[in-house]
Amino acid sequence: MLAYTYVEQGHFELRDKPRPTLQGPKDAIVRVTLSSICTSDLHIKHGAVPRAVPGITVGHELVGVVEETGPAVANVRPGDRVAVNVETYCGDCFFCRHGWVNNCTDPDGGWALGCRIDGGQAEYVRVPHADTGLTRIPDAVTDAQALFVGDLLATGYWAADIGEIHKGDTVLILGAGPTGLCTLQCVQLKEPGRIIVCEKDPDRLAFVRTHYPQVLAVPPEGLPEFVRANSDHGGADAVLEVAGTEDTFRLAWACARPNAVVTIVAMYDRPQTLPLPDMYGKNLIFKTGGVDGCHCQETLDLIAAGKIDTTPLITHTFPLQEIDKAYDLFEHRRDKVIKVAIQNT
Ligand SMILES: [Zn+2]
Ligand SMILES: [Zn+2]
Repeated sequence: MLAYTYVEQGHFELRDKPRPTLQGPKDAIVRVTLSSICTSDLHIKHGAVPRAVPGITVGHELVGVVEETGPAVANVRPGDRVAVNVETYCGDCFFCRHGWVNNCTDPDGGWALGCRIDGGQAEYVRVPHADTGLTRIPDAVTDAQALFVGDLLATGYWAADIGEIHKGDTVLILGAGPTGLCTLQCVQLKEPGRIIVCEKDPDRLAFVRTHYPQVLAVPPEGLPEFVRANSDHGGADAVLEVAGTEDTFRLAWACARPNAVVTIVAMYDRPQTLPLPDMYGKNLIFKTGGVDGCHCQETLDLIAAGKIDTTPLITHTFPLQEIDKAYDLFEHRRDKVIKVAIQNT
């Protein structure tokens, strides 16, 4: 089968590999129908994810059809259409029992797919812990609608949740890339009074203004002043930092009102400075990523109910055979790309 493979730093390649087989009683084999490219895949490509293993098949955001299940799998059956979770987790350890599945202590726990074990930019994928790693897609939801459930939407849902957003709040979201846009949709479900989205890319800013006209979409210049003028208590009640660029960590706490929760969703390339003397007296609460992706059923139900729709984010689709082209487009952000779907035919 075809599998997009991390060969060495800077180099991915579409290779022919044997089809995966069940390795344990909790495994399932999924025939991939649609996958996508995530910024984390680019981090692997450029050597920024030390635990990624050369030779593995990349890809961790996908949907497909269950082909085969191990004897201990109870929640899905062959023939089921499923969303695959970026995180596989045991469900039993200390962290899983608290819902902190990102820190699952099982050897295959946390982000393993497409990083430490073979992932889903391929024709088939083996999913360990299939009972927690796969969620049946409701009949009313298409593959394209469910594509981001396991990763981007899981992140947005988790971020909006730990951000402690209350009805009527002013919420600031930094970054309107794919994760920022998914976060925005999940924040809207909390019924805040105002949402301010800050983004420096004019195309992405225009995308927000077109698709979410009720949101205040602004560039970073003068952001603290804008937030103060458009909030009731001298700053945002909740800040979600999804950009991860040079100045966005500073903007995140600078735009927060005293006693706000500042949630860091972004993954930074470099260490950030926490200048405590400058923020003394603000009594801020910082929360740091990554995602605990264990709410796929809830997000699928919200999609089925028409409350979340991430299909406008899929700006391009390529067949698996042309995945090199898809990466080139996504990595260099050509043609106003937001997300690329990889279709298996
Ligand atoms: Zn990802
Ligand atoms: Zn666990």
